[in-house]
Amino acid sequence: MIELRNVSKTVTSGSESLTILHPLDLTIAKGQFAAILGPSGSGKSTLLGLIAGLDSPSAGDVVLDGTVVTRLGEDALAAFRGRTIGFVFQSFHLIPSATALENVRIPMEILGRRDARRRAEALLESVGLDKRGHHYPKQLSGGEQQRVAIARAFANEPAILLADEPTGNLDQANGERIFELLLRLNRDTGTTLVMVTHNEELARAADREVVLRDGRVVRDTVHVARDATPHPNGPTPPPMARAIG
Ligand code: ADP
Ligand code: MG
Repeated sequence: MIELRNVSKTVTSGSESLTILHPLDLTIAKGQFAAILGPSGSGKSTLLGLIAGLDSPSAGDVVLDGTVVTRLGEDALAAFRGRTIGFVFQSFHLIPSATALENVRIPMEILGRRDARRRAEALLESVGLDKRGHHYPKQLSGGEQQRVAIARAFANEPAILLADEPTGNLDQANGERIFELLLRLNRDTGTTLVMVTHNEELARAADREVVLRDGRVVRDTVHVARDATPHPNGPTPPPMARAIG
């Protein structure tokens, strides 16, 4: 579970002070898929960075699965992040000098997992790239690179997966494939998924839509629980969920 308690972010440059995120309370339940929407500059990446512990808030606490990450020291935070959080970036961020397989193995080797190689192969297979393990990022298309990045993000079975516009650098067809892959992994693994997206149509398949504007939550919509037993006359799931499910 992700819990933001009165979290805010203000930056100062010279005598100017700018509030990027106004004090915010936000709870995202375990296993939930929350889509974060909002115009450019509204604070979406800042919010994700604060949840990931890549950035620290000016005030407030971030609590992940009961751990107050804002009170952890640098080393403890890095270790916690490695175990608990997977991150997918818009621009893939693969290591260019490492093959696809090595990119997926590295986070597991950092934690000393003995099954790193076997698991890396299985992860690449789960994203449909078992034949591309020995290829370097530049030999892969954007969509393929993002699939490697997703396999890497899931390497250590993170409780939380954060994705910042993961389809932003992809064409529509590849963007939809990546989205469907994330949705499937969220369902299959029970990982909590927080995804920033500009695509309102895709976001409708999420459990929840949180809309930011000027550093404030202006809308927070929870959709009908996906896994609730459907009533014969009850609401139908959103079209995207139906198409994938
Ligand atoms: P989004 O991801 O929604 O486009 P960001 O979270 O990247 O928005 O940024 C929100 C606002 O905060 C933007 O106006 C951005 O320029 C500003 N901003 C982000 N980080 C910093 C920083 N370290 N210093 C100054 N301004 C920043
Ligand atoms: Mg951003």
